[in-house]
Amino acid sequence: MNSTSTTTQNFEVHDQKVLNWAKEIIENSSSPRLIQKEIVDAVDRNAIWRGQECLNLLAPEAPTSPTVRQLLASEVGTRAAEGHIGPTQRWFSGTKYIDEIESLCVELLKKVFNCNYADHRLVASMIGNMTVYAALTKPGDNILTIAQPLGGHSSNRYDGPAGIRGLNIFDVPMDPVDLVVDIDEFAKAAREVRPTLVTLGASMTLFPFPLKEMSEIVSEWGGKIFFDGAHQLGLIGGGQFQDPLNEGACIMTGSAGKTFSGPQSGIIVWNDPNLTQPVCDTIFPALAATHQVNRVAALAASAAEFLAFGKEYMAQIVANSKALAKALHDRGITVLGAHKGFTETHQVIVDVKKFGGGLDIAHKLAKANIITNKNLIPSDKPDDWDYPSGLRIGTIEITRLGMKEAEMDIIADYIVRVLEDQEPVESVRKRVIEMRTAYQKIHYCFD
Ligand SMILES: *Cc1c(COP(=O)(O)O)cnc(C)c1O
Repeated sequence: MNSTSTTTQNFEVHDQKVLNWAKEIIENSSSPRLIQKEIVDAVDRNAIWRGQECLNLLAPEAPTSPTVRQLLASEVGTRAAEGHIGPTQRWFSGTKYIDEIESLCVELLKKVFNCNYADHRLVASMIGNMTVYAALTKPGDNILTIAQPLGGHSSNRYDGPAGIRGLNIFDVPMDPVDLVVDIDEFAKAAREVRPTLVTLGASMTLFPFPLKEMSEIVSEWGGKIFFDGAHQLGLIGGGQFQDPLNEGACIMTGSAGKTFSGPQSGIIVWNDPNLTQPVCDTIFPALAATHQVNRVAALAASAAEFLAFGKEYMAQIVANSKALAKALHDRGITVLGAHKGFTETHQVIVDVKKFGGGLDIAHKLAKANIITNKNLIPSDKPDDWDYPSGLRIGTIEITRLGMKEAEMDIIADYIVRVLEDQEPVESVRKRVIEMRTAYQKIHYCFD
């Protein structure tokens, strides 16, 4: 034990101070039962603070409905099920009800996304992206993906699944002001590199992509478009964004826990039967075995909510982000995309460089119970990762709590009070708690 602790002591990716806090609790507790209580207490502290007292404006977060939460804790989550749906393609017996849950999930996803195929077994969208790279590319292939300062995500870069697959990664040319693909530059870059796959995956996402034009260009050499719709998945399902599978993308992945507002999961959908074997062979047995049937049940339940409320809910999310962006802009804050109506999604991107940058501002806002995240923006370099200039704000949670355009004005006011030091954060925090107290119910669900 001593030898391992001395060798591992030298390197730790996690913050040592926080780990030491936990170590101390574990070592000083008189019984494991009390240690378990510490865990439950931390969960409860979070539920009160983040669940009841904060304005959660994190773009990748969504509150799930009571039914979805209940299903996540259900008995079926202790059952093992791997393989494909049906009596012959599973390893375990006793799965007749599990087959019902899983098939309802698959058919509901097909209906929401209006597509021929959907898979429910991916625990995260990262795994969905790994699935696409494993199924549709070979090591050494060229691909084009979006660089991080322009909205791209690590899963499609060298440090993520695309890098693990051994792909050569080139940038999708983006216009840094209009925040869309520069189609002329794209045509040039793509014709030179002739990528097997062009991935459109954006964590910072304000406007649609010229998918039709892009897919026509890559079809010259049989290239394909992969739409990583992690963020926009719900907007797409609710008909409030472009429809990638209909506009030229051959496959789409997405995070069920972002705009889709279900349990954190990966979703993958496609139309071409020729993709079914390579994609499903990669999912099982390569990237998923026991695939958490409680999560699948919760995903199916959230897809049912989506059929009933998706359109109205997603339209209000976009209306709220437009209203919030305009309210910030009207108060003199630099909001990206101002010349194009700010945003067509759940996101608002703000340049906070002059207030000290994204890291400091996100922490300062969190002290006022306003939760956002630091974000790279086009004026940053990839190396500015720790200290970027931008702030990303999302309207999913506040919308599901029932807030509308009028509340966006109040929230913009609170944000500006903090940014411009008009009022101590403690005092803004009191206002936030008071406002949030009136919004505790989850809307757009059957509960
Ligand atoms: C969030 C995100 C992912 C990863 O999704 P998870 O469900 O968290 O694994 C992949 N791609 C993009 C563009 C994202 O924003």
